[in-house]
Amino acid sequence: MKIAVLPGDGIGPEIVAQAVKVMKALAGDGLKLEMEEAPIGGAGYDAAGDPLPESTLALAKAADAVLLGAVGGPRYDTLDRPLRPERGLLRIRKEMNLFANLRPAFLYPELASASTLRPEVVAGLDIMIVRELTGDVYFGQPRGIEIRNGERVGFNTMLYAESEVRRVAHVAFGIAMKRGRKLCSVEKANVLECSELWKEVVIEVAKEYPEVELSHMYVDNAAMQLVRNPRQFDVIVTGNIFGDILSDEASMLTGSIGMLASASLDQNNKGMYEPIHGSAPDIAGKNIANPLATILSVAMMLRYTLNQEAAAVRIENAVKKVLAQGLRTADIYTEGTKKASCSEMGDAVVAAL
Ligand code: NAD
Repeated sequence: MKIAVLPGDGIGPEIVAQAVKVMKALAGDGLKLEMEEAPIGGAGYDAAGDPLPESTLALAKAADAVLLGAVGGPRYDTLDRPLRPERGLLRIRKEMNLFANLRPAFLYPELASASTLRPEVVAGLDIMIVRELTGDVYFGQPRGIEIRNGERVGFNTMLYAESEVRRVAHVAFGIAMKRGRKLCSVEKANVLECSELWKEVVIEVAKEYPEVELSHMYVDNAAMQLVRNPRQFDVIVTGNIFGDILSDEASMLTGSIGMLASASLDQNNKGMYEPIHGSAPDIAGKNIANPLATILSVAMMLRYTLNQEAAAVRIENAVKKVLAQGLRTADIYTEGTKKASCSEMGDAVVAAL
């Protein structure tokens, strides 16, 4: 199994180094993992004048899965837009046709006090949001700003082809089968034709997954239910813009940006795995970043692309163990726990494996 490792910028190299330690430990135990690194984002610009160097894209395409740290930093904010780090990230997602974005929101019991919601509301929280990533109002044509009747109007097009809905619905049903077998499709079918089609297609796909209990919810209600009673959800599937908003809302239920992993998958479950947070330039180079989101991204990679469930569970259990031992990086530190640096946390996870 070949893994393209793209550390990126800011804290990217520090946190990815910890994830690499974990993969090396698994490889030492017999898992056939090979890793190769390449620059992306600002590092890509520095190395090759391009936030997505051709050699990096080629490596990513040839690999079985991609592990990414994060991209971006103030040094690159004044570059022409096509040269900026974030452009490299958008391009690699598009080039690899990563249309299904998986964002789990999982609350570790030890971190319950980090949530802004009361512990009894979020205890046991374990949601997976599947967001469509390459369609919807973000990409639909026509779009623009023009003069109509003597004033400027801005417009975008919410658009989904049924094939786009079908393929992401299959991903979501497949994931629901591996979890609690409950899927909630979120749309706004009471007002939007695009959502009406979305709902129809999801219902069609559901016939192939009779064991999954399918429900439907309007997005405004879903936003409310996520803070009222988030534990009612197992898997949520939704379009690009609704998913953008709901997945950020759901991730913050757990209170800790340094803990959450994500995956972006293509048609064949090949994917790019990354923490949900950015390159955190404010703490880069200080060895204090939380590497657990990146380490947990490796667990997702083993589960969803490499079909190594046992190894995925081993990583997740190791993370639970270090948290139970009271080890905390600065972002999740509370009184009475033990402060660990980024590399100490990586070492502790390897030891717990
Ligand atoms: P950010 O996620 O980088 O940081 C937000 C806050 O969370 C900061 O205070 C940071 O120190 C903290 N934080 C983030 N990850 C952490 C970790 N692992 N451990 C401890 N603390 C952590 O978001 P931002 O500050 O808005 O953006 C910084 C840069 O990252 C920008 O250039 C932005 O474009 C980029 N960015 C990249 C991605 C990505 O690569 N996928 C995503 C978001 C932002």
